[in-house]
Amino acid sequence: MEEAELELFRESGGMASRVREQSKRLIMVGESLLDIAETIEQMIGEEGGRPAFPVNISINDIAAHYTPEFESTASLDENDVVKIDLGIEVNGALSDTAYTVDLSGKNDVLVKAADEALENAIKTARAGTPVAEVSTRIEQTITGYGFRPIANLSGHMIKSNELHAGVEIPNVKTNEPYVLQEGDIFAIEPFATTGTGFVEDLEQVEIFSIYSPAGVRMRQSRKIVEFVVKNYRMLPFAERWVRKEFQSKLLVSAALRELLENHFIRGYPVLREAGRGLVSQAEHTVLVTADGCDVLTR
Ligand code: MN
Ligand code: MN
Repeated sequence: MEEAELELFRESGGMASRVREQSKRLIMVGESLLDIAETIEQMIGEEGGRPAFPVNISINDIAAHYTPEFESTASLDENDVVKIDLGIEVNGALSDTAYTVDLSGKNDVLVKAADEALENAIKTARAGTPVAEVSTRIEQTITGYGFRPIANLSGHMIKSNELHAGVEIPNVKTNEPYVLQEGDIFAIEPFATTGTGFVEDLEQVEIFSIYSPAGVRMRQSRKIVEFVVKNYRMLPFAERWVRKEFQSKLLVSAALRELLENHFIRGYPVLREAGRGLVSQAEHTVLVTADGCDVLTR
């Protein structure tokens, strides 16, 4: 990677780090999910970036891919385990980071398991480390606390304009043959759960991304695709972002359904722990170096 490109990744990571830390004060009992998501997305804009994806607020047994609906009136409950996952895009450079807040104070060990798994993974990662070794550290740390890592959610290589760039870092040991290389950028994201260790898709979909912006015939759908491409390009977008512009719930949901059926867009269903277990998550974006890694979102 060129130095100028790397500099953008550092910039994106620095912004994500500041937003991450500043957003923690928003995670309080009674706060509205919609307010939290919109405030964090606004903070990202104020940093000079744009959301790499809609801010995910995943609570309790929801592991990922939930972002509030346009008309959401939900707020945080005193017993919630809250995962905040955010990413920033700056001229194609992407960062991805997440943390968990345990509002009850009763699940601090679950939170610690994911945090410590991430720290141990970071300590293990350097040029020459097999991905399987990083996965093993994550799995051992989480099982050491008596929880299960989520096996079907993974960290991922990041490239410019590509948040999920092929190689994955599973949260359990697999026979993945890839060996970390100097200059690689990865998001490492352990998930710990009291449940089965697997997530499953729910019917609900709030986050989408465009596969192919060309050739959409239906008028309303084409207008939506044009709006998304103009504002978010090919990055994932939220239904609520589209609703803000187009208002009509019926028109927007019909158009999105049509676009999904014709494979112009893809959806990211809300992911729930299969045994309805509680879930914690920790995530940083790192740059692999010869003797370790730089945590870009620290
Ligand atoms: Mn993430
Ligand atoms: Mn990620």
